[in-house]
Amino acid sequence: MSFFKLLRIVVLLLILVAVAANHFLGKARLSEWDHTIWVTIYPIPADGKPDTRRYVERLDIAAFDEIGDFFSREARRYGLDLPKAAHFQLAPVPSHPPPALPAGDNVAMVAWWSLRMRWYAWRRGREDGLLNADIQVFMLYRTAEGNPGLDRSVGVQKGRYTVVNAYASPRKASRNRLVLAHEMLHVLGATDKYVPGSGQPIAPDGLANPRANPLYPQSHAEIMAGAIALTPDDARMPAGLARSVVGRKTAGEIGWVD
Ligand SMILES: [Zn+2]
Repeated sequence: MSFFKLLRIVVLLLILVAVAANHFLGKARLSEWDHTIWVTIYPIPADGKPDTRRYVERLDIAAFDEIGDFFSREARRYGLDLPKAAHFQLAPVPSHPPPALPAGDNVAMVAWWSLRMRWYAWRRGREDGLLNADIQVFMLYRTAEGNPGLDRSVGVQKGRYTVVNAYASPRKASRNRLVLAHEMLHVLGATDKYVPGSGQPIAPDGLANPRANPLYPQSHAEIMAGAIALTPDDARMPAGLARSVVGRKTAGEIGWVD
């Protein structure tokens, strides 16, 4: 093996170790919940429509506080006092959108996308003029036509960023916050609790109250299931976070309970 080939391998390994350590430390810090989680929202008009751009430019960052209040309210049920769980700050509209998520689930394509995404997120963090965020949120706004499901959005725990597909409509704002809360919880370590494809919550962990009697219909949605289970095979979207809870399994995954 030539010297340069060896050098290249050593450098690559060093980068890998640095990235892995960064992931590990980042996750450990966030899941301790000992400080307010700083979240930067990057609003991105994603369909080229003037209405969407207008909506995005008038976004009210204060509305996102509902998510922090949701975390505080739910943490209290697990005996945790988090008066200010999350703080949201609004970045200017980025000059260009993030790399598009590959359509399929080809591992190599997704890996390449996530590399480019990390680079994109790092660059935006450098130029947004804001305090360093614990979580970066890229909100892709489109007009409220069509119906992209919950995990057309992605929360990437290792990268501590999330890409959220949102609607450029005041009527859908609370739905957008629900999706964002779901994706933020992915970044914090939570897993999905619904059947891919059908969206049906998986009992018992995907039910807001797994001990209800009768079990169905449920009155609330478990946030990582994203839907209220009406029967074992029927569910509907909750209107927003007011009708959602953090279930015990999720609470364990994000470090609220052992
Ligand atoms: Zn999800």
